[in-house]
Amino acid sequence: MIGRGYTPRVPDTRNASSPNASAARAAEEPGGPPIPPGSTIGILGGGQLGRMLGFAARELGYRVAILDPDPACPALAIADRQVVAAYDDAPAAVELAAGCAVVTYELEHVSVDLVDAIAGLVPVRPGAYALRMTQDRLAERRFLAGIGAPTAPWREVRSLELARIGAAELGFPLRLKAAIGGYDGRSQVRIAGPDGADGIEAGWDALAPIAERTGLVLESELDFACELSVIVGRDVTGRAVAFPPTHNRHDVGILVESVVPAPPPVDGAVADAAIELTERIALALDLVGTLTAELFLLRDGSLAVNELAPRVHNSGHWTIEGAATSQFEQHIRAICGLPLGAPDAHGPAAMVNLLGTGPARPAHLLGVDGALADPLVHLHVYDKRMVFERRKMGHLTVVGPSTPDEALGRARAALAHLAWADE
Ligand code: ADP
Ligand code: MG
Repeated sequence: MIGRGYTPRVPDTRNASSPNASAARAAEEPGGPPIPPGSTIGILGGGQLGRMLGFAARELGYRVAILDPDPACPALAIADRQVVAAYDDAPAAVELAAGCAVVTYELEHVSVDLVDAIAGLVPVRPGAYALRMTQDRLAERRFLAGIGAPTAPWREVRSLELARIGAAELGFPLRLKAAIGGYDGRSQVRIAGPDGADGIEAGWDALAPIAERTGLVLESELDFACELSVIVGRDVTGRAVAFPPTHNRHDVGILVESVVPAPPPVDGAVADAAIELTERIALALDLVGTLTAELFLLRDGSLAVNELAPRVHNSGHWTIEGAATSQFEQHIRAICGLPLGAPDAHGPAAMVNLLGTGPARPAHLLGVDGALADPLVHLHVYDKRMVFERRKMGHLTVVGPSTPDEALGRARAALAHLAWADE
């Protein structure tokens, strides 16, 4: 249960008549009265996900407070209040929680201690358990094994010796990943064989400093047929609603394209199995909010979980224009104790990421008129002040053509118009 032990440590902002105070009390009971518009939602993290969560929250009439270390973070645009602090600054999080009816997070790299520090003040949704199980790949793998969810075969590795033993047991090729802190393909390496530039020792050397702090996961590289993801919204009563599975393509670990409905080899049976698996995981996490499962579809038709995110996800950005309810609105509804919206897609949709290129410099986007010349194209720019190679700067969505392939082709064509100015 979320929100037990609510103690109004900041009485000036929590008098009995304020909507936030009554909402916080109401939210102690799952299924109790919803948090009303006019209340403030706290978001730990002010990146593009926080920004888009904020847009959805604002449409429903909520106010938004953000915690982020960057005073010019993307979510600043939608924040009524920003606490500029690191994701492990517990006193700053307490400051954020003051006046909030509920707190959520837009990234799983928030410290669990920080969440624990505010969980007695205000409901945190999803809660600390979901965060603990998903921010550490080792904890996540143990959790998934515990509920019988399939993953690539893996080993915990804390020394070169253990990496060698694990490699001998698992065979090549392998992936070696930091347990904590990796994203967009960072903090992981591919190990092709026992020796050489992409051998075990080279891989270990690349991650050894991280290994000492967090441990590593060594896992078999799977020869998958495709990657897909399922995003599930789950409300305070435990009702889960899944968006249609999305087909995803990555380039060196970073998401570049998502398409829905997922084309073959994903069929109805695979989609049902993927949704059933993700809902089962959300139930086991007792999660309120949204859960994303990144999945591999293997060539034998079976599924393996790659990783979990207790939050909205890049592969769900198409839902803003492409689904009856966006993933962002769904998350806000869930954490505010409101009924969930319909997840259905309006039709084939494709999303392509707008990534940074070149050295770090102020971000000036060129070619927007060309990209929007196709009237089915929607452009989202996150207003990050600096651009650099492979930074997620925005995305484009196309909804409406008759096939997912056409949607993807048009999104790619629009993306080709965009470029980052040299200075
Ligand atoms: P991140 O947290 O950076 O997203 P992931 O573990 O999801 O890290 O890896 C990023 C991408 O790398 C995956 O989406 C997939 O394309 C590829 N990848 C990761 N692990 C494996 C694996 N075991 N087998 C095959 N591809 C993998
Ligand atoms: Mg991933």
